[in-house]
Amino acid sequence: MGFVIAVDGPAASGKGTLSKRIAAHYGLAHLDTGLLYRAVARLLLDKNRPLDDEKAAAAAAYALELAFMDESRLRGAEMGEAASRVSVIPAVRAALLDRQRDFAAQAPGAVLDGRDIGTVICPDADVKLFVTASAEERARRRHRELVGRGDAPPYETVLADIHARDARDQGRATAPLRPADDAVLLDTSDLDVEGAFARAREIVEATRGASSLR
Ligand code: C5P
Repeated sequence: MGFVIAVDGPAASGKGTLSKRIAAHYGLAHLDTGLLYRAVARLLLDKNRPLDDEKAAAAAAYALELAFMDESRLRGAEMGEAASRVSVIPAVRAALLDRQRDFAAQAPGAVLDGRDIGTVICPDADVKLFVTASAEERARRRHRELVGRGDAPPYETVLADIHARDARDQGRATAPLRPADDAVLLDTSDLDVEGAFARAREIVEATRGASSLR
């Protein structure tokens, strides 16, 4: 087993950007596990199947070949919303479990980001980060990003979407979003990308065994 860093947190907390930076810095592989759920939702939508079709969703999750999917069709708030609908289906979560664990087991190690990495997928991870920011700050960041792309709904709509997604991710019965008991909280509300990265490095390097990383 390599060195495993679990990064969990709500939508638009900055965990994806942070995870990529951490993985590149320490020479570890990186898996954005949200993409797996987004891909399952995409496959259902492409086949005109409802997102709550449990059988079709589980079959799509088993058959998933992420490498063959066009990432640009998985991104965006709409696909995030669709992903959060299929991710409440226990059979979908079960179908994606082994592939996430196999990814985590590679040498020299891996960074996985998602919602249940520290609690369910890699409960023995060497480092667990729970990245958060206030809903308002996350909505501001997401809104700014959408304005940059020239495609922005009003800020209030973005904030309402963030609240709705938080409620679904925290309220589901299987693997709800919550910090693992041994996770370190990293609140990025008042930190920029560099500040969050510096704090994450401090946390990683305070961990026993991290000295073997570059
Ligand atoms: O992180 P991202 O926004 O891409 O995730 C999309 C949705 O997929 C989340 O809102 C969540 O419902 C689901 N997800 C999950 N478990 C993960 C990663 C994502 O349930 N490990």
